[in-house]
Amino acid sequence: MARNKSLRNTCERFVNDAFDLLDVPPEMRQMMRSPYREVRFELPLKRDDGTSSLFYGYRVQHNQSRGPFKGGLRYHPDVDLEHFIGLAEVMTWKTSLFDLPFGGAKGGINCNPRELSEIELETLTKQYVRRMLTLLGADRDIPAPDMGTGPKEMAWILDEFAHKGGFNPAVVTGKPCELGGAAGRLEATGFGVALMTAKAAIASGIEIEGATVAIQGMGNVGEYAARFLADRGARVVALTNSSCGLYKKTGLDVGNIFDEIHSGNNPKKTIDELTGDFDKISNEELLQLNVDILIPAAVSDVIHEDNVDKLQAKLIIEAANIPVSCSAVDILEERQIPIVPDILANSGGVTASYFEWVQNRQRCQWSRKKVMKKLEKRLDMVWNIVDTKASQEQLSYRQAAYAIALQRVVTATSFRGF
Ligand code: NAD
Repeated sequence: MARNKSLRNTCERFVNDAFDLLDVPPEMRQMMRSPYREVRFELPLKRDDGTSSLFYGYRVQHNQSRGPFKGGLRYHPDVDLEHFIGLAEVMTWKTSLFDLPFGGAKGGINCNPRELSEIELETLTKQYVRRMLTLLGADRDIPAPDMGTGPKEMAWILDEFAHKGGFNPAVVTGKPCELGGAAGRLEATGFGVALMTAKAAIASGIEIEGATVAIQGMGNVGEYAARFLADRGARVVALTNSSCGLYKKTGLDVGNIFDEIHSGNNPKKTIDELTGDFDKISNEELLQLNVDILIPAAVSDVIHEDNVDKLQAKLIIEAANIPVSCSAVDILEERQIPIVPDILANSGGVTASYFEWVQNRQRCQWSRKKVMKKLEKRLDMVWNIVDTKASQEQLSYRQAAYAIALQRVVTATSFRGF
């Protein structure tokens, strides 16, 4: 799939820029970029109606120099191995930037979870675990939620593991709290996006209170980013999901909108079922709004060379993974529009996942207050390190973040020997 290939190329460009800054030798560059392991396997599923379907499971384990592989599980019909190669690599740089004792991985199944029943989803998820049993584990590779998965799937993973190797909550993160999940994990990524947005706004001379914000994506990340930004006084004027979205010039009532969406429970209410004072807006219209801050929080590669010239936002926060193509990054940099890169903006989730893993290993449960306090402290620290390096060395946030992340992995690999 061409789009999935371009995702990998975008990542390659950012990494090569950092290699040049750090003067990394060619043999080390090759080791850093090449995934450690790429797995694809068949997942046949007997459907509720007696027919059968064939799906594919994937896991790309990119780097484990600094600790066990760590990364989400994505359920989406368009995924393939190329897709996960780029995303697994991004996870390596994220865990390193936040100094978490993990490497990077990513995987999933090429299914549309909305077209599967609860029983079918559980069967498929547990089958995925059975196929991957020897490669996953608390000290090997720890999955977490990503697009199309959440606490429910993580609980099934824990259960399947428990049948084979005994109860060990540290084999997966993003679980329900009742099974050892961290309080605050659900909202952690959106919390981090909002915090990084506020920091970057100050650095760009934008007052967050009253700032206008457009968010693409109304899933886990988009919802909590919107809620936390509204709490900070920002005006969230537009929100979209895969089909269309909502717009109100004076600011949407974010809390009410998401409460109403969830009141539909399962399935959630659609945009068309929502009532309220707002206009409808398309995804392309959202990207082109004249707002202070634009937050792509849905899928990759949504800002590219064909639409970048129409963007009017003053600041871009990459809540999704790789939402801006490298050619678009170049154009935005020329226009001096700052971009907070994904590895800095959306790492609240993996940081909270680390706190969950630590609690699981110690067989203890921290309060939400403690998790959020530790999360804020870590996010604050990493923002300051990146911001300082960027301003001292005249680098973009992306160049500074990648240079810090890569240096740690290069050093760890050198110490371990290869
Ligand atoms: P989600 O499945 O909960 O929500 C995804 C949202 O994107 C939905 O509103 C969906 O309608 C919308 N969407 C899907 N395709 C779209 C399209 N083509 N155009 C516009 N909108 C579209 O997923 P999520 O967990 O919120 O993740 C969103 C992004 O954030 C992904 O790129 C994911 O990799 C990244 N991310 C998530 C986490 C996490 O903790 N959930 C952590 C780090 C990064």
